[in-house]
Amino acid sequence: MLKTTRREVVLSGTAAATLGLAGSLEFLPAAFADEAREKGFTTYKIGDIECTSLYDGIWKKKHDDGFIRNASVDDTKAALAKAGLSTEFVPIEFTQTVLKTADRTILIDAGTGGQLAPSAGMSTKHMEAAGIDAASIDTILISHFHPDHIFGLMAKDTNAQLFPNAEIIVPETEYKFWTDPALIDKLPDRRKGLGKRIQATFPTWSNIRQIGNDIEVAPGVRSLSAFGHTPGHTAFHVASGNDQLMVVGDIANLPALFVANPTWQAVFDADPETATETRLKLFDQAVADNAVIAGYHFGFPNAGTISKDGNGYVFQPADA
Ligand SMILES: [Zn+2]
Repeated sequence: MLKTTRREVVLSGTAAATLGLAGSLEFLPAAFADEAREKGFTTYKIGDIECTSLYDGIWKKKHDDGFIRNASVDDTKAALAKAGLSTEFVPIEFTQTVLKTADRTILIDAGTGGQLAPSAGMSTKHMEAAGIDAASIDTILISHFHPDHIFGLMAKDTNAQLFPNAEIIVPETEYKFWTDPALIDKLPDRRKGLGKRIQATFPTWSNIRQIGNDIEVAPGVRSLSAFGHTPGHTAFHVASGNDQLMVVGDIANLPALFVANPTWQAVFDADPETATETRLKLFDQAVADNAVIAGYHFGFPNAGTISKDGNGYVFQPADA
């Protein structure tokens, strides 16, 4: 078990090195994580940038043979058990990140908007609890256009914008893919509704800006192309002082399965081979740079450090 108390764990590049990652698997005590979920947010600093993780909730996904292309349900259950998790379901959790820089309040990904799973959609409430006024968000960065990342931009029934005054910054490759009118016919049935909803909204919004790779979207915050999960999937790299943070979106789903077994291919990855290459590359970068890493589906708290462990990696969540 991680022996440190919350007061002793400070998330910075220097402190991350002292988290004690060597040796056997270590976990935040379960009660500690439950407490963080109950509170709904955690905060930490990357240099001068104040970071907040906002817990949106969980989808308790039923096991199914098609979930991981190259692992069985038994393999999946064994990996969950090894991480100390229940084997009853796959715990797919959703966590957004807010960055407060000197002159910007930046939300990374928009959450489920309460439109996906009954036990998700809490990030608006948790944003309030964290003392962040939704009206103060002037910039929204979107990693990719899957429902759990964009539905929080729009009202359930009317598709009305929920952040009309924010600039919404999206990867141009992702935008071009989803807004191509010829796409709908080519999408699998389970994605057709998503494609139609994107095409009915995004092209009509004047506050969307498309960006490419390695674009500075705010001082210290740059886009980092991380294709594979979707055609334009993009991570964000944050640097301030000596600290670095990589907000990696969906390069990997829950750590117990896909950080521990980085070559496992979840059905959500549109291009599994490219997604695997991206996952390994960004994990290695985070290890080499001693960067804090935050994954959208990394559970809660969702920010921590990553280290090599045999053929896989270990994600060590940390609470600030
Ligand atoms: Zn996702």
